[in-house]
Parts: sequence; C-alpha cells; structure tokens
Amino acid sequence: MPDIIQLLPDNIANQIAAGEVIQRPASAVKELLENAVDAGADEIKLIINDAGKALIQVIDNGRGMSETDARMAFERHATSKIKNIEDLFRIKTMGFRGEALASIAAVGQVELKTKRTEDETGVYIEIENSQVVKQEPVAAPVGTSIAMKNLFFNVPARRNFLKSNAAELRHIMDEFIRVAMSFPDIFFSLTSNGQQVFHLEKGTMKQRIVQILGNSYAAKLVPVQEQTDYMNIYGFVGKPETAKKTRGDQYFFVNNRFIKSAYLNHAVMNAFNEMIAKDSFPMYTLFIDLDPSQVDINVHPTKQEIKFEDEKIVYAFVQSAVKHALAQFSITPTLDFELDPSIQSLDAVAKPFTEEKRSSASASSLYKTFTQKHQSHFIESKSELKHWKSLGGTEGDEPGKKLAGDRGSLVEGESAKMQQLHPINDQRPTTDNLLQLHNTFIVVQTNKGYYLVHQQNAHERILYERFALAVEGRPIATQQSLFPATMELAAADAVLLNELLPDLHHLGYMLEPFGNNTFVIQGTPADVDHGNEKTAIEKMLEQYKHFSSDLKFSKREKLLRSLALQQSIKAGISLTDKEMKALLEDLFNCSTSNITANGKPTYLEFKKDELDKMFGR
Ligand code: ADP
Ligand code: MG
Repeated sequence: MPDIIQLLPDNIANQIAAGEVIQRPASAVKELLENAVDAGADEIKLIINDAGKALIQVIDNGRGMSETDARMAFERHATSKIKNIEDLFRIKTMGFRGEALASIAAVGQVELKTKRTEDETGVYIEIENSQVVKQEPVAAPVGTSIAMKNLFFNVPARRNFLKSNAAELRHIMDEFIRVAMSFPDIFFSLTSNGQQVFHLEKGTMKQRIVQILGNSYAAKLVPVQEQTDYMNIYGFVGKPETAKKTRGDQYFFVNNRFIKSAYLNHAVMNAFNEMIAKDSFPMYTLFIDLDPSQVDINVHPTKQEIKFEDEKIVYAFVQSAVKHALAQFSITPTLDFELDPSIQSLDAVAKPFTEEKRSSASASSLYKTFTQKHQSHFIESKSELKHWKSLGGTEGDEPGKKLAGDRGSLVEGESAKMQQLHPINDQRPTTDNLLQLHNTFIVVQTNKGYYLVHQQNAHERILYERFALAVEGRPIATQQSLFPATMELAAADAVLLNELLPDLHHLGYMLEPFGNNTFVIQGTPADVDHGNEKTAIEKMLEQYKHFSSDLKFSKREKLLRSLALQQSIKAGISLTDKEMKALLEDLFNCSTSNITANGKPTYLEFKKDELDKMFGR
C-alpha cells in the first residue's frame, strides 16, 4: 500500500482557513474597513455592488503600503500589528491575526492599489486564488484601495449559501455602522449599486449617532460618562421616550470593538428598569475602555464576543453609569452637552495593568458604591444575575415563547390525556356557552367533551390565513389617515421596510418612502387604532427581524407570520361573549384550525369518556 497523507496545496489551505474569517460579504467589509482604520485613514469609502457579491471596495487615505509590504500583506499570518505573544495583550488596533487579506485573496479576485507619501509611485497588484497574477507601478493618491470581486467565485458551494441581496446588504450595513459609529472623527461613505446610502461627515460622537440612527434622536440623547482607574465608560443612551418596539439601536463597544453581549445589555435594561415599557428597547451606544489585558477578544474568530476578566464588575459599572446618567437627566431634563471628541483617544488602555492598579481600582469610590449594600447603585449581583435571562437578556426571545412555556407546564402538570386536535369538521362545537379562563383560554363544549382554546394562538391562525388571502389578491381595505404621520427609521430598517412595501400595501398599509429613511403613513388597515400606526409598524419590523435569519421562509411568509403574531389578541385580555364567539367561528372557518403557522396548538381537546375514566366511571 502506498502512503496516503499529502500536504494540502497553499491555495486550498487558504480557502479552508478563509471559511472562518470570510463567511459572507459583510465579513470582508468588516475586515477591510478595520484595516483602513488601522492604517490611520480619516476618510474611508466603501463601495459595493450586488450586495457585495460582485464587488466590495474600500478606499482609504491612510498610510499605504510599500511594494514589498503590499505583496506580503496577502500571506497568511502576515501582520504588522503584533510581533510576539505579549503584544496580543496590548492590542489597540482592530486587526492582529494577519488572516484577513490572505482569506480575502483566497475566495475572491483582488485588486490592490496603494501608495505611501514617501514613494514616487504606487503599486498595483492583482490576485486570484491566492496567486499574484499581475503587478505593476501605478499613479495613485496616498492611501490604499482594495477591491474584492466575485466573492466565492472559486467556492460555488459557499456562493450558493449566500442569502438574498437584501439580507446580505443588511449585514453589510450592520458592519459598516458598527465601524462608523466608533470612529466619528473619520469620514465614512457607503455606496451601493451607485447609490450613496451613507455619507457621514466627521463630527462629534453625538452627531455621528444622529447621522446613523436618525434625527429623531437629535435632542433625545443622554450622555453617559464615568471614569475609574479600572475602566471608563462613555457614550449615549436614548431618553426613555425614544425606546422603540424594535431592538435595533443598541451598541456596545469594548476598546472600540463592537461586541454583542446579552449580559451587558441586561445591565442597561436594568438601569432603565421602570422608565420604559416592558416590551420596548432603549437606544444605547456605549463605549467601554479598559486595560486590554482584562479582556479576551480571542474567544470568537470574528471577534464579536469577548470575555472579561471580571464580568461582574463590568456589569455593575455599566448599570450604575447608566442609572446615574438617567438620574441626572431627570432632574435637569434639558441637560445636553457635546461629548468632547478627545475622549475618543482616551489612553486608559495604554497603561500596563498591575496588581497595584487592580487594588486601587477596587478601592475606588465607584467600585465601592456598587459593591456595598445600602448604596443607591448597589447591585445584588447573584440573585439579579440568575434571572437576567428571563428578563429579556437573551438574543432570540420571541413573543409566544412565554405562552408556549405556560402551556408546557399545564400539560406537564396535568395527567389527563389530552390530545392535540386534527381538523374537526365532524364535530363542530357549539359556540353558545363560552367560558373564558385566566383571560387566556376559552372553554368550548362539544358533543364529545370540550376544547380548551388558546385565544392568542387561535387569533394568530385566523390572522395568518386572512393575511395570506390578502397578499394573494384579496387586499385588505385601507383606512386613509386624515393627518398622515411620518416615521423615521434607522437606515437598515428603512431598507427592510422598502422591500416589504408591495406586500404591505395588499395588507392595508399604505406607506410612502419620503427619502432619508423617512416614510409617510398614508393609511393603515381599519383595525389598527388611530395613533398606533407607528408602533404597529415598528413592532412588525421587530417581529420580522426575529424571523429574518430563517432561511426556510420567503420574505412574504415571514411578513405574514410577523403580522399575525404581532396583531393577535394577546393572552391576558378579557373578551366579551360576542368577541369569543366571533373568534371561535373565525377559527373553525380556517382551512387549518388546529395549529398556528408556527406549529403551536390553537386548542387542546379533552374527551368526555377519558375524563369519565379518570374519575373511575
Ligand atoms: P491584520 O489586520 O490582522 O494585521 P490583515 O490581513 O488584515 O491582517 O492585513 C495584513 C497587513 O496588511 C496589516 O497588518 C497591514 O500592515 C497591511 N494592511 C492591510 N490593509 C491596509 C490598508 N488599508 N492600509 C495600509 N496597510 C494595510
Ligand atoms: Mg486586518
């Protein structure tokens, strides 16, 4: 037998490694933008075509590269940012692994143009399949332009895995926003298929937030700022009245790196506690700076998750800083200052961390206020943290989950053999004597026993079928608004809403794009209460976003499900006899009446003969 082990050729090894770094166009966008930031640029332009599938180009006016560096940059593990392992713990740049460009060159066709101030001419390089196919001197402005064409042209399996242009564009905008948000002193623009989507002039952090998230926040931002020896926090939270039904506008940055943290999100939510409605989300853009040795940014390859050396301190710090900011704002509602841009370059991160510093940090007054009982900002970490998940701290919590849970415990605790129903044409229940229990369930007698109907699930099914008919050509009537309201959305939400407009029209929502991410609400279905139009649309978007990572469903299907979920009568609402009757009649007229579109039962059947048996009869 011959030996069978072979070394993979470089380009294949690179392609495999690239899978971890470049999963979709947005990952390449993130890496290229970060490189431009690291290169000291103060002007960065992102150009994409076809949601990045055809072209992703980043042009910066940073320091550029020498001819040799330009070639080296595409080698795996080629980086100018760390030299030894200790450097990893002092990282202040966005990149450090030296993998991004190598990965990009493995899965796309790359054209690089770069020039340093000190060089006469620039250099132009073309790379395909990790091989340099062309190199020549070129006239170029100082800085770097990297264009990546035809992402995954050589990995069709991955190319097929990409989502719709709208979905990929949304991911790109998310990444763009995250970088642009943390560097307000850099000019950024984003052009998609020749249309400028963002044009962000340099300015203060507050101006940047408003440029990105919309004018509705203009006079509604509360500055957050606390400093200790251990860490600093700065940024803004939205005043409570700006809290939205959609979760979108929430950003955490640690040492200028965007991170996702359900844990820290919970700290902020806790600080807002009683000030906002339970199902709404406050806006926040918060920057935490601490000694890089206190965080491990290596936990996740795309660096969105991090581990803190001491996460309880960070939690308490975030919560107390936000509480403090909100408290100040409530006594001086007009308090409104510009955050000094120099805070951007805070150097708290540069100093080496020592044992001495740690003890002085824990001795500092802020640390004490949140670790000693009977202080205003005291946080009982253990008990509070245990429940943070149930308080909305998790990522994917969806309405209906709670209901499913309620139902679950009922079923478990009940030894009766209950059956989920199949279509029930043969034994249509009488809807005369109806009983509502817990403002949630409706008991309906049949000739064989009774049904326990869940009012919300039932209504979801009814609405879903009604909406499905509407988009297929039996439009729902629109009630014209006498005074059309306008609503301004975050850019990413506006893109999303634009996609949904035609279907929404059939569903009775008449919305008109008005430029600048603004929409005019011309009319809504008759059953949306006047004054609630905006909320209804926001809630629909939020719901839609929960579904939006779901590959199985079409846009339309997701929209139908979102609307049905969001508009259904909720559990806990008392219904009149007439309403119950109408609900049940509508339910039993559905083509599928026993489950919701998401597969939850709309009712359970209790059979009389089985009940008899249980009573020993
Ligand atoms: P990393 O950013 O982790 O160092 P990359 O693969 O992203 O790894 O980049 C490799 C190197 O190429 C960087 O360390 C940097 O020296 C150089 N480089 C990349 N992009 C640029 C740019 N836009 N301007 C100047 N130099 C760059
Ligand atoms: Mg990089």
